[in-house]
Amino acid sequence: MGKLTKSAQLFERAKKVIPGGVHSPVRAFQSVGGTPPFIDSARGACLTDVDGNTYLDFCMSWGPLILGHQDPDVAKAANAAIAKGSSFGTTEAASLALAELITGNIPWVEKIRFVNSGTEAVMSAIRIARGATGRNTILKFDGCYHGHSDAMLVAAGSGLTEMATPNSAGIPEATIANTLVAPLNDIQAVETIFAEHGDDIAAVIIEPVPANNGLLLQTDGYLEDLARITRAHHAVIIFDEVITGFRLAFGGAAETFGIHPDLVTYGKIIGGGFPVGAFGGRAELLDLVAPNGPVYQAGTLSGNPVAMSAGLAALQKLLQNKPYAKLQRLTRLLGDRLESAARETSRIPVTVQTAGSLFWPVLGKVSTQDGCVRTPEQIPAEHQDYFRQVFHSLLTSSVYLAPSAVEVGFLSTVHTDAQLDTYVAAFARAMQGLESNNVLVG
Ligand code: PMP
Repeated sequence: MGKLTKSAQLFERAKKVIPGGVHSPVRAFQSVGGTPPFIDSARGACLTDVDGNTYLDFCMSWGPLILGHQDPDVAKAANAAIAKGSSFGTTEAASLALAELITGNIPWVEKIRFVNSGTEAVMSAIRIARGATGRNTILKFDGCYHGHSDAMLVAAGSGLTEMATPNSAGIPEATIANTLVAPLNDIQAVETIFAEHGDDIAAVIIEPVPANNGLLLQTDGYLEDLARITRAHHAVIIFDEVITGFRLAFGGAAETFGIHPDLVTYGKIIGGGFPVGAFGGRAELLDLVAPNGPVYQAGTLSGNPVAMSAGLAALQKLLQNKPYAKLQRLTRLLGDRLESAARETSRIPVTVQTAGSLFWPVLGKVSTQDGCVRTPEQIPAEHQDYFRQVFHSLLTSSVYLAPSAVEVGFLSTVHTDAQLDTYVAAFARAMQGLESNNVLVG
């Protein structure tokens, strides 16, 4: 990587007119420090910034680009849609084709409605659950992210029995009071909460593979138990598959685990790189939504034909090419290679947790019995500081990861073996640097 002269100038200008210079906080590089490169263009698995530096991208726009930047089929479909008009604000057939493709291939999604972001999808799914049950309380999990609607920013308090606290200013007390937060990977905690609040809980929402606070792999059987307990109390089980949908398998984590949620939320991949979200599930729940039912939900640009056409092309390609088994193999292989590169160059332990084409290197010693990180508390204390150093070393080697220690990496179908070799070699150098920069503890 060369200089970031133009990026630095743009960042200074941006900070004057945009909060923090960014439209989404992590992009500001605050947890890793330094200047974020301003990206000018992208193709395949590479980003090019305004100074002409090219990076090998493992963030991939935070997940939508499973087929890589500028996939030719997706780009062609989007361009063809633009040529016909960018938005009609009324009924059109592109969203119908996408809805039919999804409902035709994912049996537990009997009906689906499109929105413009994952946040909106989750917000709407929760309203349906409340409308369906006549109950107010939502149970979520510490370590999952579901977008930035008020209720979804309520975080765990200091103990299970204590009041939850908001992760953000501006969240009303009433919202906090209606939101319960359980620890991940602890089915007993869920039982306890249901024993006390079962009659008030409208919905349980979870990322079936939590991928927003590291990649927190849940123990076998956990999701089955969660779904069983939720249903026993006549609450709605919502899988938030904004990341995992169409990534772990076409039918997401629900397909992988063979558990069919009542409602599911999607985003990212279903828009082929354009702004999108969707909520779907059992027809009787979706029919509660306006104009059929009493749950109001709407959107000016919902079902936008450009996003829908791009998404349709992306999903058709995924259905046709079935890349999932290969992607999973490649991702695990990458994880194994990163782990051995670390072993060869440093005494600092590295564990790479993977699920499908998601990966997350854990830097430092994991103290759990099975060596797996399943909750936020199990992330080694040194991980954040080590990540900051590794991140900058990788950036110097032109490898771009999401600029946060708790964000996962995304592999796409266009990452080549040679590009993975480049990453592994850069990671080996980064770990060697980390070894010499840090006094080992213990
Ligand atoms: N749910 C999950 C699981 C997510 O990962 C995200 C975003 N990363 C969201 C919801 C919110 O989606 P959006 O950023 O499109 O609002």
